[in-house]
Amino acid sequence: MEQTLVIVKPDAVARGLIGEVIRRFEAEGLTVCGLKMVRLAHTEAEGFYQVHRARPFFDSLTRFMASGPCVAMVLKGEGAIGRVRTLMGATDPLQAAEGTLRRNFATSIEKNVVHGSDSTTSAAFEIPYFFNQLEIRQPAECGETPAM
Ligand code: GDP
Repeated sequence: MEQTLVIVKPDAVARGLIGEVIRRFEAEGLTVCGLKMVRLAHTEAEGFYQVHRARPFFDSLTRFMASGPCVAMVLKGEGAIGRVRTLMGATDPLQAAEGTLRRNFATSIEKNVVHGSDSTTSAAFEIPYFFNQLEIRQPAECGETPAM
């Protein structure tokens, strides 16, 4: 069983896509174990994306992530990290596979709807960045949701 951090980014929240993003993950049998709406301060967005601090898009990305509310969630399931990344699609919507969230809804390589942890190491940093232990359903309460 893996846990992964997913963020519905500010572009998707503003466009009314929260439900559609969550629906797609639940429909694939992933379980929502934690969920909250947050408005990141710019410094908090910088802390979250610190691995990208040397990248030319860092300032633009972190300002975008602080530009409006996000919805953060913890999803759980067998291979959850990879399954979420498959459903998201490639970072650039022009490269993303047909039927993925980013192919269907992203408007640019930056405003690309959704974040998902890219490794167990990232998930171990990202989940507690947003959630404390009391905010995440405990293992016994959090089985797999049957796929629809
Ligand atoms: P992800 O794991 O697919 O989200 O991609 P990365 O970890 O490489 O990048 C993190 C986020 O930075 C992406 O989801 C985009 O929002 C943004 N981003 C990535 N590449 C670029 C870029 O070339 N230009 C801009 N403006 N933003 C980018």
